[in-house]
Amino acid sequence: MSTMAKLKHVLVIPSPAQGHVTPLLKLSHCIADYGVKVTFVNTESIHAQVMAANPGLDDESHRIKFVAIPDGLETDEERRDSTKMVDSVLRVMPGHLQELLEQVKQQSKGNEDEQINFVIADLTAGWALEVAERMGIERAGFWPASVSTLALTLHIPKLIEDGVIDNKGCALKNDLITISKDLPPYKSNDLTWSCPQDPTMQKDFFRCTSAIPGYSKHSTSVLCNSFHELEASACSVIPGALPIGPLIVSASLFHLRGSLWSEDATCLNWLDQHPAQSVIYVAFGSTTVFSQEQFYELALSLEQIGRPFLWVVRPDLTDGLVTEFHDRFLQRVRNYGKVVQWAPQEEVLAHPSVACFFTHCGWNSTLEALSNGVPLLCRPYFGDQFLDRSLICDVWRVGLVVVSDENGVTRRHEVRTKILAVLGSDEIRANCLRLKEMARKSVGKGGSSLKNLQGFIKDMIA
Ligand code: UDP
Repeated sequence: MSTMAKLKHVLVIPSPAQGHVTPLLKLSHCIADYGVKVTFVNTESIHAQVMAANPGLDDESHRIKFVAIPDGLETDEERRDSTKMVDSVLRVMPGHLQELLEQVKQQSKGNEDEQINFVIADLTAGWALEVAERMGIERAGFWPASVSTLALTLHIPKLIEDGVIDNKGCALKNDLITISKDLPPYKSNDLTWSCPQDPTMQKDFFRCTSAIPGYSKHSTSVLCNSFHELEASACSVIPGALPIGPLIVSASLFHLRGSLWSEDATCLNWLDQHPAQSVIYVAFGSTTVFSQEQFYELALSLEQIGRPFLWVVRPDLTDGLVTEFHDRFLQRVRNYGKVVQWAPQEEVLAHPSVACFFTHCGWNSTLEALSNGVPLLCRPYFGDQFLDRSLICDVWRVGLVVVSDENGVTRRHEVRTKILAVLGSDEIRANCLRLKEMARKSVGKGGSSLKNLQGFIKDMIA
């Protein structure tokens, strides 16, 4: 990779969650490839988790320096309380970031290369853009979800003004929501701040989401982890959107993408022992929580399908104790099922023996599946996952949805039927291969995303 004329020092700051840290760290690796110095700022608790789970990440300090600032909370228990977390982050983190920037400025007096002269902030932590602007530092936003989600988010003030949603983010009518004639309408149950199982969380989520249109005014461009060909109409309604995805890191840096938990690589050897396109991969991201009942239904569906499966069961995947059930289940499926606590997901999805991906439709998981041409089975849990499901199933037609019953539980019969339908669909597989090729082109030489990224970096260091 060529080194540009005048080097800069960029500070990159994600929101404190897996789905935000990973894409921004990938972006940091891409930027560092151009010889630009990167300081990556996590909260202290995320920093500790990332360092513990990724031995060797510190050795990257010649390319990326990892720095931590407090989030103002003492325990993980407090961090699981969304109201406490949002209040605390907004109260203390802007001040800590400003102190950090001032400290670097002091320390780098007389050494221009060390001075931080650009900030890239997750728009969900858009207060960092306000800090940068106050301090006269150039900046850009970053959006870790789909451009379609960003378009809806930036239209929140208009949706409230037009009486489409109330000021708590609830849809006032059951109609389709149109924000532009150039963009297909959104379903009223695809609102991206929705948390059906937890009204308090929805309130906090909407409070954060509705701040984003204001934050976005502090930067002229928003780097998006998507590609133009995938979401052309959504890109067209956001003038500053710069799609640069799907963000990927070279295989040599795979282990440095910032997992919060240690990746269990034994599943890759296990996958090696299976024929091409035979394994059902099941993973619901970093935050999904299931009731005991839902957990049992999923486990029993995988058991009854009887095909090889790899299932990521985080220690906190359920809200009740399932150890006894889980142990008996593992015994029964030991000849065809493998369960890990956290997988190297991108390698798993790139593995030839994976046949389909049963997912919660988090945006990173969605893009990782699309980039590898893997058909999806969708069981969204909260937030933008509902809209991602609609894009996957209705727009790109690369997957099917599993529906829940009147108690919100997805039953084993439904899972079984839909998994078999996904596995048997030639149309879905053909669409997957088409999108995989489009994704590959967009980040390849002359591709739309690579051009956008190169143009951005050129402007940044000019
Ligand atoms: N992931 C992983 N191992 C797992 C499960 C997930 O590395 O066992 C990664 C996955 O590759 C993705 C991220 O965690 O990059 C999850 O982000 P996503 O946006 O899909 O979901 P979230 O966790 O934010 O709900």
